[in-house]
Order: sequence, then C-alpha cells, then structure tokens
Amino acid sequence: MTKCMICGEPTNTIYDEQLGVTFYHCDYCEFIHQDPTSHVNQVKEKEQYDHHQNSFENQGYVDYLQNFLDEYVLPLEKEGIALDFGSGPGPVLFELMKHHFHEVRHYDPYYHPDEGYKEETFDVITSTEVVEHFADPLKEFHHLKNLLKKDGYLVVMTSFRTMDISAFLSWWYRRDTTHISFYHMKTFEEIVQRVGLKIIKHNQKNVIILKRA
Ligand SMILES: [Zn+2]
Repeated sequence: MTKCMICGEPTNTIYDEQLGVTFYHCDYCEFIHQDPTSHVNQVKEKEQYDHHQNSFENQGYVDYLQNFLDEYVLPLEKEGIALDFGSGPGPVLFELMKHHFHEVRHYDPYYHPDEGYKEETFDVITSTEVVEHFADPLKEFHHLKNLLKKDGYLVVMTSFRTMDISAFLSWWYRRDTTHISFYHMKTFEEIVQRVGLKIIKHNQKNVIILKRA
C-alpha cells in the first residue's frame, strides 16, 4: 500500500494504459503522484525542458507571464525583493519582475543552480509551472515557506486537477512525463495546513496565492 505523500492516507493505484505509467491517487486530499519508478532521469528531464519555447523570442510566452504578473503579483503591492523559483531556460519572469521590484533573484536546478537565494528571505516568491515537477512537494513547499518574509507571498502557477479520475486519464497535462505531482484544491488545503501557510486567493484553475500562516 502506497501512502499519500501529502497527507499519509492510503492511495488508490491507477494504471495509465496510454502512457504505461502508474499513478497514486489519494481519496482524502486528492493528490495524484506519478509512481517514482517511472520518474524520468535528470538528463531526460533537462532535454524535455530544453524543448520548451520559454524565452523572450516567444512573444506569446512573454505576454502570458506579463499577464500573470499584472493580474496576480502586482496587486500584492510589494516592491522589495522577489525570487522566481524554477526560472527555466530563459528567465523571462525574472527579467519582467526587475521592472517592479528593487531586487530580484532566480533559481533553477538546471539553468541557474546558484543557491545564494537560500541566504535571503523574500517579499514575493513566484513559481510558475514548477510544482508539478516536485518529487517531494511537502518538503519543497516547506522550503519555500521558510524563504518568505513574515508577510511575504508565494504565488504558484500549475494546472489544478479539477476533473475526475477517468478524465484525468485523458488530460493533456499528465502527458508530459516530467509532470509528476498533480494538485486539487483539496491538496492545497492539506499542504498549507501541514506547512504553515494559508490560502489568500486562487482562480480555481491554475494560480494560487499563499502566505505564511
Ligand atoms: Zn492525501
């Protein structure tokens, strides 16, 4: 029996015939995690990221992140120091945030593995399209919480699982096999309790704003 990585309850095993991958689904917090034995290795993972068209040459992507900033980050009215955690191959959001914060840092395990950010605390941390790659979400969310200033915000973008399990098995988002952790709103409710955060706002779709509890 595999226990849920978030809440510790027993999970249901789901075999995805299309992908040939096993997922574990928790009935209690609705978290879904890909079986660790099918997690892609780091070389393959990086290859996958290298193919993402995430740079300033992709205007659609730049606009997408600018909208994210305008809609979710700037209304927080913070201007001190920000961190983009998991900034990817072309650190677009990091560059965009420089227009709005006095100081901005970024970290990416593959493209900018400078761990200097660990020595600081932040008014705002953004993490877009990152948490679905977490192999140990509770540990990572705990880490991010500890990097927040007392009234700092953590703004997360990931596609929430809003559909049932049968629809999950045809969801495009799971087809990227580097996506290993899938969050339902109930999952976030469980995570914040365990990690010491609270939910400030979400859009029911792909953005959630958290704050230290
Ligand atoms: Zn659970």
